[in-house]
Amino acid sequence: MAFQLHPITMKILVIGSGGREHALVWKLAQSRQVTGLWCAPGNAGISQERLASSGAAITCANVGAEDLPGQLALAKREGIDLTVVGPDNPLALGIVDLFQANGLKIWGVNRQAAQFESSKVFSQKFMERHGIPTAAAGTFDEPAAAKQFAAELGGRCVVKADGLALGKGVLICANQAEAEQAVDEIMVGKAFGTAGARVVIQEFLEGVEVSLHALCDGKVAKIFPTSQDHKRALDGDAGLNTGGMGTYSPTPFLTEAQLAEVSERVLGPFMWGCAAEGIDYRGLLYPGLMLTARGPRVLEFNARFGDPETQVYLTRLENDLAELLLASAEGTLAQHTLRWKTAASVCVVMASGGYPGAYAKGKEISGLTDAGALPDVKVFHAGTTWQEGKVVTSGGRVLGVTAWAEGLAAARKAAYAAVEKISFAGAQFRRDIGAKALP
Ligand code: AMP
Repeated sequence: MAFQLHPITMKILVIGSGGREHALVWKLAQSRQVTGLWCAPGNAGISQERLASSGAAITCANVGAEDLPGQLALAKREGIDLTVVGPDNPLALGIVDLFQANGLKIWGVNRQAAQFESSKVFSQKFMERHGIPTAAAGTFDEPAAAKQFAAELGGRCVVKADGLALGKGVLICANQAEAEQAVDEIMVGKAFGTAGARVVIQEFLEGVEVSLHALCDGKVAKIFPTSQDHKRALDGDAGLNTGGMGTYSPTPFLTEAQLAEVSERVLGPFMWGCAAEGIDYRGLLYPGLMLTARGPRVLEFNARFGDPETQVYLTRLENDLAELLLASAEGTLAQHTLRWKTAASVCVVMASGGYPGAYAKGKEISGLTDAGALPDVKVFHAGTTWQEGKVVTSGGRVLGVTAWAEGLAAARKAAYAAVEKISFAGAQFRRDIGAKALP
């Protein structure tokens, strides 16, 4: 590893406002090299963080994540050295290209690379071209052919709108009637607008789902340990799909050896494929993976950090995150080795009552100080804001209560002990985060 005699100093801007961005800000604030930290738009928890180097406060600026000119103006005005992009939308809109065209350094994938997330058709075809293990699938721009393919799969299939649909564009179908209805909803009824002009239809795969994350710099991909998300709203994986109700890392469903094998079979061809097609993939690659009886299969690619995953990963990461993100942006990741605590980490999401459907906002949150005072616990904020000097709810997912300890059982216990200290009207959370992984 390179030894740095003269540490660089950096002013960093983090774009976004969720639990992922709070985890990024919290970890970046611990870097001795970070001398100024902004977040736009941020949330109540982010605004309470302090820099380790100086004790200085983090500034939350009221600029929306998708307000590209506003973010650019902010970065120029504050003399930002590195901008870190959290969410997928600004990446798909080309924020990286815009900043680079203005001579500013930014971390995240460019518009071309963001297609892996913004177009499922693009991803599916790429996987097929480069031999990345995935589900048997077809891509269609016309309903009759899509229905015909669903019939060939026996009707049991997954119909996916091509474009970004807030995580709602994936319909799981048990039979041909459901598959035809899904195709009609997406392609004819335009349930997701132009995102559904094309669809991917995949065979339905059974198995255990895990999240992979890898930091890429256009040349190398550094794989993270395993983690598992809990997408459904209710215990026992019941209820509606959400943005994620909790995560834990590592998961026992993939051994170190299996992770290395998956990494070789997925990340190897991915990076080679990008090189062959002139795609400069610098940023985070997050494949959603199904471990099937026939081996691992990639269901989809995301081109940014997973929200609840970030909270468990960054509480386990030992490296200086500012150094790693800079190396990812500059193409020098090969010089770095990712180092992780042996501790397991568990994140329990506390959400507003009714989420992912309609929910109320403005509920006062109590117990944050008590929970935050527990050792090896960090309460990340997602949908929170200030109202008359009090922290109140302002979104569906409100908090990511995260704890780490040696062993998953102890980490779960610590996370739930912190959850018990926090309350707000209508709070809902799953009680079984990480339970599947316990004997
Ligand atoms: P995606 O956004 O493509 O990851 O899909 C959302 C969720 O749908 C995944 O997390 C899986 O639980 C499920 N899913 C997607 N594709 C498949 C598939 N081919 N077989 C079974 N489940 C799937």
